[in-house]
Amino acid sequence: MNWSGKLSNSVQSIAPSGIRKFFDIAAQMQDVISLGVGEPDFVTPWTIRESCVYGLERGYTSYTANRGMPELRTEIANHFKKRYDLNYDSDKEILVTVGVSEAMDLAIRAVTNPGDEILIPEPCYVSYQACTTLAGGVPVSVPAKIENEFRITPEELEPYLTPKTKILLIGYPNNPTGAIMERGDLLKIADFAEKHDLIVISDEIYGDLTYNGVHECFAALPKMKDRTILLNGFSKAYAMTGWRIGYALGNSDFIGAMTKIHQYTMLCAPITAQIAAIEALKRGEKYMKKMVAEYDRRRNLIYEGFKRMGLESFEPRGAFYIFPNITSSGLTAEEFAEKLIMAEHVALVPGTAFGKSGAGHVRCSYATSIEKISEALNRIEHFLSKNKFRD
Ligand code: PLP
Repeated sequence: MNWSGKLSNSVQSIAPSGIRKFFDIAAQMQDVISLGVGEPDFVTPWTIRESCVYGLERGYTSYTANRGMPELRTEIANHFKKRYDLNYDSDKEILVTVGVSEAMDLAIRAVTNPGDEILIPEPCYVSYQACTTLAGGVPVSVPAKIENEFRITPEELEPYLTPKTKILLIGYPNNPTGAIMERGDLLKIADFAEKHDLIVISDEIYGDLTYNGVHECFAALPKMKDRTILLNGFSKAYAMTGWRIGYALGNSDFIGAMTKIHQYTMLCAPITAQIAAIEALKRGEKYMKKMVAEYDRRRNLIYEGFKRMGLESFEPRGAFYIFPNITSSGLTAEEFAEKLIMAEHVALVPGTAFGKSGAGHVRCSYATSIEKISEALNRIEHFLSKNKFRD
């Protein structure tokens, strides 16, 4: 059968993720240092793994409630009460999902009608635009500015508003820039959302990964809880990417709508991962904090390294990415990433994989060892000096 032309228009209109391309090149090479993957290099802490093993020994192999195990939902509710003084009803306002990836897809699908517009500050995680398009919505990219360390402001959002604007989708700490939003920045965004009656989807998967300051949860801002759908998960903070577990918190109508889709498309998140997630919330925090302290060491090393070699970057304050400006090399971000991997076997991701406003930048993940980061910095420095692009 000739499949071209038979696939849905929406699927054909989205491009494959720009992150993966460089992994495929890297997979064919020896001695590649990858600063490309957005994934902790740590193994999930043992107490979390052990709880899963013990769960299997006890025969926990079934489906769970669609919304997730009650004990996990209770732990999540307790965590948000303790951390942000937010009250979520564990029966009606929490949905456990297969990663934040699923939660994002459900959140967008639950409210998007054909033609509805979603404001998406850029650069941003690769799934936001794709999920919007697949849901029949229209992604409206709003470029954030390097001069403002990639924070978004109401003044920047305002020109993109139309009568069809329904959702504002934000993700801070940010992938790929490492930017965070301070409380003052977020309060202005909250006023903007209120003024224009927007739903806010807030992807806070990196909320536990902040340096020099605490994370501000969008739903905890005055009057924001009811209009915010808060997404979070275990992949990054607890080094649990392969477990596939995330969650959404929000108004019961909204969570109910998401649950309907989840019920038919996913049924429930895996019970093994849910048991592990309960342990992560009960006893995982001290291990998580150790990992964050290690990311902080790596962050300082890579930030200073880029500064030394003249690649301009603002200091990233969240997640585990740095987003240096490589325009002084005379190359585009794509060319830089391609030539670097070929010449020096260092993998990173061109900023354009995260939207047009990522042009002139590359994303480097520092979720890898100090030794590897040091060696990668040496190789990048060698690459720049050998090629003398600036001449
Ligand atoms: N949101 C952001 C900003 C991410 O960076 C990622 C993964 O890289 C995800 C969501 C997806 O996370 P999960 O593993 O929970 O599906």
